[in-house]
Amino acid sequence: MSSLQIENLSASINGKPILENLSLDLPAGEVHAIMGPNGSGKSTLSKVLAGHPDFEVSEGSATIDGQELLGLEPDEISRLGLFLAFQYPIEVPGVSIANFIRSALQARMPEGETVKAVDYYKELYEKMDEIGMDRKFTARSLNDGFSGGEKKRCEILQMSMLNPRYCILDETDSGLDIDALREVSLGVNRMRCPERGILVITHYQRLLEYIVPDKVHVMWEGKIVLSGDKELAAELESKGYDWIRDEVAA
Ligand code: ADP
Ligand code: MG
Repeated sequence: MSSLQIENLSASINGKPILENLSLDLPAGEVHAIMGPNGSGKSTLSKVLAGHPDFEVSEGSATIDGQELLGLEPDEISRLGLFLAFQYPIEVPGVSIANFIRSALQARMPEGETVKAVDYYKELYEKMDEIGMDRKFTARSLNDGFSGGEKKRCEILQMSMLNPRYCILDETDSGLDIDALREVSLGVNRMRCPERGILVITHYQRLLEYIVPDKVHVMWEGKIVLSGDKELAAELESKGYDWIRDEVAA
């Protein structure tokens, strides 16, 4: 069975260890959530998987169907089927959304084939309608001057156009009002299918009321210290994260 498998992953930045011996198996068809306090290493995990050059991997592996991701360039990782929706999407003035997504799709096609404009725009507009994004956005520069919610919708638009096999959503809920949260969640739920695994990183349980996960993992100081079903998210919400400290110490 297809899966994104992380084994004994340790990584550091500027000599400071962040991830320690982290293991996680995300099978296709499932949605897993990672919750954890600020600074526990959630974004680091997603960036390491996506091939961010600032992090140094000292140990472990991360594979999609046995193919190693660590050490590959971000574009290679992307073409293997991993998509990361950023916690803080960057602004790219001068590159329109339409051209950006089209180039990304083009880069995935065999040589000699090109994205067909008519089909492309049809699909793009459909997806934009689904996630409640005005069609005028296609001509705007990527994330340039976007509100927090608009940036997050734009991440979901890219994700749904690229059809990745594994998606990581890093705090896609942060900065969203309740309507945007619902629409973005619907967009993610539409992508749930037996062939795709989705990892939702969040600080709050609220998102998980919309995107109901198959499993919940708790991250603490660079490790997964607790895993459970969706009830664990509710428990964290009511008890906060402090009890995890006692749990880890025990
Ligand atoms: P989370 O996403 O769970 O809030 P992060 O992965 O962003 O946590 O951060 C984990 C730890 O790594 C924090 O202590 C943070 O300060 C540190 N860290 C992240 N990026 C850098 C960096 N570029 N330089 C130094 N420390 C960093
Ligand atoms: Mg983070």
